[in-house]
Amino acid sequence: MSNTDFALAVEDLTVSFDGFKAIDKLTLYIDRNELRVIIGPNGAGKTTLLDLICGKTRATGGSIKFKNEELSQMPEHQRVRRGIGRKFQTPSIYENLSVFQNLEVSYPSGRSVWGALAFKCSDAVKSSVQTVAADIGLSDRLHMEAGLLSHGQKQWLEIGMLLMQEPELLMLDEPIAGMSARERELTAELLQRICKNRAVIVIEHDMEFVKRIAQKVTVMHQGKILAEGPMDKVQADPRVIDVYLGH
Ligand code: ADP
Ligand code: MG
Repeated sequence: MSNTDFALAVEDLTVSFDGFKAIDKLTLYIDRNELRVIIGPNGAGKTTLLDLICGKTRATGGSIKFKNEELSQMPEHQRVRRGIGRKFQTPSIYENLSVFQNLEVSYPSGRSVWGALAFKCSDAVKSSVQTVAADIGLSDRLHMEAGLLSHGQKQWLEIGMLLMQEPELLMLDEPIAGMSARERELTAELLQRICKNRAVIVIEHDMEFVKRIAQKVTVMHQGKILAEGPMDKVQADPRVIDVYLGH
């Protein structure tokens, strides 16, 4: 496979914070329809890697290509426009708006919240909201105030807000933190639905959840990749057991 076939090609990526290399010559390729899980001990650099890909943090060296276009010097908002969506650990939804309105304002059009609310909801927006609501399991909550949703439902709503922009690469940092067992199950199903026509990167600690969703797993340690492959192979790797799974 040539590099142009990947959704994301990260090569020799490095970032130093005052001389400390949080990401150290890391190389990673993600296919266009791949769901990739990244695991590793605290401080391994997982969140920093997502920060670098979405543009929240600027790389010190190396390259990040998205659909063969160099991103590493591109501002964050332009990366969003290219199709990169990233969910942070704490959801940032509009608590006082309905689920419908939260999704509606996320429709890509460059409008502000209040501008978007003033404009008459077009059929295209409505149909997009319905599709996304079904994907995130909130079809029957569209008219509920978002602040009244459960913790898990708020997380799904934020994923939905990203899906409204039809990202080609979606990155989720510990999406099931704080969720109930049932919500974790539903999130696993949600991920199977939304990874069908895009690349998805999920960082997660919960190994039961990882086993349920994982195709290919990348293990990070000290800003580098320690192991990569199918779950059963990674799980049996003595180096992975030593730095992560054994604890
Ligand atoms: P993980 O998500 O795998 O737990 P992080 O990416 O959050 O790890 O952090 C990796 C390392 O980089 C940690 O040692 C952390 O303290 C450090 N780090 C992350 N962001 C910054 C920053 N903006 N400035 C200085 N150090 C940072
Ligand atoms: Mg982290």
